[in-house]
Amino acid sequence: MNDLPDNLKALTRAALDEAAPVFAGLDAVARDNTARILDAFRRHQVGDFHFRATTGYGYGDAGRDKLDEVWADIFGAEKALVRAHFVSGTHALAAVLFGLLRPGDELLSVTGAPYDTMQTVIGHPQASPGSLADYGITYREVPLTDDGEVDGAGVAAAISAKTKLVLIQRSRGYSLRPPLSVAAIGRACAHVKRCQPDCVCFVDNCYGEFVESSEPTAAGADIIAGSLIKNPGGGIAPAGGYIAGRADLVELAACRLTAPGIGSELGATLADNRLLFQGLFLAPHTVAQALKGAVFAASLFAKLGYNTLPSYDAPRSDIIQAIELGSADKMVAFCRGLQRWSPVDAHVVPEPSAMPGYSDAVVMAGGTFVQGSSIELSADGPLRPPFAVYLQGGLTFEHAVLGITGAARAVGNS
Ligand SMILES: *Cc1c(COP(=O)(O)O)cnc(C)c1O
Repeated sequence: MNDLPDNLKALTRAALDEAAPVFAGLDAVARDNTARILDAFRRHQVGDFHFRATTGYGYGDAGRDKLDEVWADIFGAEKALVRAHFVSGTHALAAVLFGLLRPGDELLSVTGAPYDTMQTVIGHPQASPGSLADYGITYREVPLTDDGEVDGAGVAAAISAKTKLVLIQRSRGYSLRPPLSVAAIGRACAHVKRCQPDCVCFVDNCYGEFVESSEPTAAGADIIAGSLIKNPGGGIAPAGGYIAGRADLVELAACRLTAPGIGSELGATLADNRLLFQGLFLAPHTVAQALKGAVFAASLFAKLGYNTLPSYDAPRSDIIQAIELGSADKMVAFCRGLQRWSPVDAHVVPEPSAMPGYSDAVVMAGGTFVQGSSIELSADGPLRPPFAVYLQGGLTFEHAVLGITGAARAVGNS
């Protein structure tokens, strides 16, 4: 950082000072979550024995079953399905939707348009082969209110006897709306149950795990899902996804991952088991590192004159930091600056490019050890107004500071 121009060096120091008081709260959440994890590991007697690999069908895979048990406990759920067999978060989320919904059922999103990759799964607004729409499952959505809250009246009006499942997305995704807190998710689930007691409340929990001291399953959600190369893999899990929630619902989703009759009973753990346990153990700390980076970025870029969402001192429920840079050139410069400070592929120069499922070109920075991992320091965004980059991750706060400062310098020179 010594080679920074004087003004940026001074602003970096000021941002570090401003951010520091926020860190105590983040550390306290990390301690709470670590205590919950240690307690579960102790109670379930996790041992070295559980880290062994299995082969073939994976019958009686003690490590796999133990990981499911501790995960369920930590997430306040009856059952969990934690598998490297899920290729991504989208795959885990899709397993829930295809596992629970039947032809003629309706899916209702109560947090507006879902994350881009979920739109392909649903088959809305565009048709996509193999989607829920192909199976005769209809879809509606109720946008959030202007304050970023679930629209209670709108949901009450939209819900009907056909509404089998309500989708609640915790994180902001590629939008500037705030994430929903665990408490807000709990209120939304209670409201849905008042409108339609049998309706399943399903939370897309991506980017939210361990940001607060409890998870949506402990607050009234029936089932949740997410990615292991985001928060709960702690930067260590090499691939995978998870589902947690009511036992009967998780088992139906497992029948979609494997096959009816097989469900959660089969599936060999090839070589990843220790990494999934260890990643879970590290996750609260890693998430706190990423959040400290986000808080620092919010402070620094506000001092540089940009709108940052959330602001450095606002409550958080996901790890995403949006920064409105205002031009495509600045977005590209930001990503190139961040990439130059990555531990992997630092020599690569990000270029905006078209992406399947996105209507605008997307620019991305992510020099990560695990391909595409976004608990590692990374940024991306579609090149369209308001020209915001979405920054997330950071395995160490030190790296986050260096990368974010590098990005700020590149933006200043652009
Ligand atoms: C990341 C993410 C997903 C799933 O994305 P994958 O890249 O398939 O893991 C779904 N929803 C939200 C809100 C996400 O952030």
